[in-house]
Amino acid sequence: REVFAEETIDSVCPFCGVGCLTSVSVKDGRIVKVDGRDGPANENRLCVKGRFGFDYVSSPQRLTRPLIRRDDAPKRGDISMDLGNYLDYFREATWDEALDRAASGLKAACEAKGGAGVAGFGSAKGSNEEAYLFQKLIRQGFRSNNVDHCTRLCHASSVAALMEGIGSGAVTAPFSAAGDADCMIVIGARPAQNHPVAATYFKQAAKKGTKLIVMDPRGQDLMRYAEHGLKFKPGTDVAMLNAILNVIITEGLYDSQYIAAHVDGFEALKEKIRDFTPEAMAPVCGIDAGTLREVARLYATSAKSIIFWGMGVSQHVHGTDNVRCLIALALVTGHIGRPGTGLHPLRGQNNVQGASDAGLIPMVFPDYRSVESPDIRAEYEDAWGRTLDPVRGLTVVEIMNDILAGGIEAMYIQGENPAMSDPDQAHARKALASLKHLVVQDIFLTETAWHADVILPASAHAEKLGTYTNTNRQVQIGRPCVPMPGEARADWELMIEIANRLGLDWSYDGVPAIYEEMRSHMPSLNNISWERLEREGTVTYPADGPDEPGNEILFGQSFPTADGRARIVTTDLVPPDELPDEDFPLVLTTGRMLEHWHTGAMTRRAAVLDAIEPEPVVSMNPRDIKLAGLEIGQEVRVETRRGAITLTLRADRDVSTGMIFIPFCFFEAPANFLTNPQLDPFGKIPEFKFCAARIMPS
Ligand code: SF4
Repeated sequence: REVFAEETIDSVCPFCGVGCLTSVSVKDGRIVKVDGRDGPANENRLCVKGRFGFDYVSSPQRLTRPLIRRDDAPKRGDISMDLGNYLDYFREATWDEALDRAASGLKAACEAKGGAGVAGFGSAKGSNEEAYLFQKLIRQGFRSNNVDHCTRLCHASSVAALMEGIGSGAVTAPFSAAGDADCMIVIGARPAQNHPVAATYFKQAAKKGTKLIVMDPRGQDLMRYAEHGLKFKPGTDVAMLNAILNVIITEGLYDSQYIAAHVDGFEALKEKIRDFTPEAMAPVCGIDAGTLREVARLYATSAKSIIFWGMGVSQHVHGTDNVRCLIALALVTGHIGRPGTGLHPLRGQNNVQGASDAGLIPMVFPDYRSVESPDIRAEYEDAWGRTLDPVRGLTVVEIMNDILAGGIEAMYIQGENPAMSDPDQAHARKALASLKHLVVQDIFLTETAWHADVILPASAHAEKLGTYTNTNRQVQIGRPCVPMPGEARADWELMIEIANRLGLDWSYDGVPAIYEEMRSHMPSLNNISWERLEREGTVTYPADGPDEPGNEILFGQSFPTADGRARIVTTDLVPPDELPDEDFPLVLTTGRMLEHWHTGAMTRRAAVLDAIEPEPVVSMNPRDIKLAGLEIGQEVRVETRRGAITLTLRADRDVSTGMIFIPFCFFEAPANFLTNPQLDPFGKIPEFKFCAARIMPS
C-alpha cells in the first residue's frame, strides 16, 4: 500500500450537494485539516461539516476486514450498536471467502427467481463511476432493473415533474444565479442547515437587492433576509402556489409571447386555476390573501426571478404536484432560460445528481434513457453482451414491500443505510431481516450492516479517486488523500470482484477507464473527457465543445422534449395521507440538522460535530410545551401509528404550534420508526414531511 507523506491534496467535500472544493492536509496517513478551495460552488468557503467533519475517516470503528454472519449468531434483525460484541454476530473472513459467499448468495436467488429475486441499492455518496458500475452489475448480472438509491427518498418527485414538464431532471441554473436575479423564491428548503455554503450566496444576493421570498412551515435563518417569509400550513403547498398562479393569470401578469412560443397546457391551467383564488386558499394554507397577491406580483413582474426548492416540497404524497406548480410559475412568466431565472431543486447528497445521471434508478439507463424502450435496450444489450430486463424495476420502498410479500430474496447494498433512512423502520428492518441473503458494502457497521450475511469493508470518500456531480451540474474530481484502513478496498474494485464471480468478465484498469465507458453511454458528458476534468478541475455539463465552457443556464431556446416545447400539468388539492386527529393531534415533520449528515453514519463519528449535537432531540414550540405541561430538556416519548421513540425535548420558536420536528440522524432514537411510508404516485417518494403524532413524558 502507498504511504502518504505530509502533503495537501485537492479534493471535494463528501457531504452535501453544494460540492465545495477542498484542500485536504494529510500527515502520517491521517487527515489533519480541511480548507476551502476556490471552486465555482464555494469560492473558498466551507461549512462546519466540510471543515470539521473529516475524522470519521480514521474512526476506530471503521470496518477493516470482511465479515460473515456466524451460523450461531443471534436472530437477524437484532441490532447491537454496542460494537464491543459484534464478533458474537460475525466472524472475520478472507476476501476470497467473503466475495465467494457474497456472489453465490446473490446468484442463488437469481437462479431461483430470475431477476425478480434480486435487488440492489447503490449510493449517492459514491462516485459517478461506482454508481455506473453498480447499476450495470444489477442489470447485466441479474437481468433486473431492481436498482435504486436514496434519490427516491429526496427528489424523485422533483425529477418526475421536471422530466414531464421540461424534459430534464437537472437544474436549469446554478445557485449562484441568485446573484443575477431580481427576485428569488426559496420554498421547502433550509439552506442554512442543509446547503450552508449555497445559503451564503442567497444571503449575499438578498443583501445586494434580490428580493427574497422564503416559504416554509418552519421559521428559518434565511427569513431574516426576506422581503416575505411565508410560514404556511404544512402540506398545503398546492393551495398556496395555485393561489399565486391565480393572481398571475387573473391580473394578466403572465408572458403570453413566451407561452405561445414555448409552452403547452396554458389554457387548461387558466381553466383549472379559476377556483384557486387567494381568498379561497388563504384559510387552507394559512397565508392571507393580500400577501399571496404581493408575492405573485413580485415574482411575476420582476425582470428575472428564480425558484429554489428542497425536500419540504418533494417529500409529500403530493410532491410531484408541488413541483408541477413551481414549473408552471416559471413557464407562465417566462422566468427560465435566462441569467437570473430558472428552476433549481437543491440536491441533497454530494453525488445524488451524478448517481441519478449514471442510471442508478429502476426506470432508466444512464442519462435517463428508458429501460422500456426496445431501441435503447438493444444498444445496452449490444454493449454488455446480455439480454436485459425489459420492464422498469421496483423503487426503494416497493423493494421493502416486495421482500415481505415473498418476492425479492437477496440484496446487495452499497453505501446506503435503509435501516435508518427508510420510512416506517420497523417494517423496513423486518424486510431486511427476512432476506435470504444480504450483502452490505460499507465503511462502518451501520444499522443496515447488522442485518447482513456478508459485510465488505469499503472505501471512504477521502481514500479513492472518482468524479462527483453537484447540484449545479458541475462534475468534479475527488482524490485519494489517505490509505484505506486494514484490508478495506475501493468500492469499484469490489463490484468488479462480484461481477467476475457472476461470470461477467469485467476488467477495468482504473477509474478513468470506467469514467470513459460511462461517458460513452451519456451524451450529457460529451466533450468532458477525464483529461479535461484533470486539467480544469470542474466542468459543468452539458458542454458544447471540448474547449467550450459548460452551459450553466439551460433551455433558453427550446426544451429537450419531443417537440421542443414545455408542458404545464395542472394540479388539485390532495391532502397529506395521515391527518392529525384526537389520538395523534400533532404534525410530525423530519429532516436534517446542520451538524449531522443523513443517518449520521459519518458525522456521528466526527468528534467536533458530535460534540455540538450529541443527543437526539424533538423540537416543539414553547407555547405547545407549556400547554402540554412538559418541561424543556425533559425526556419525552413521541408516538405515531407505526412506532415510538424516546428523546430530549427542545424548545424552538421556529416550529409552528401544532407541529414537532425530529432529525433522522440519531440511531438512539430513529425518527423513521415514526414516519409514514405512503408514496407519491408519480415519484414514489414517501411522505417524510407529514404524519400524525403525539408526545408525552417518557
Ligand atoms: Fe460540504 Fe455542503 Fe458544507 Fe460545502 S456546504 S462544506 S459541500 S457540507
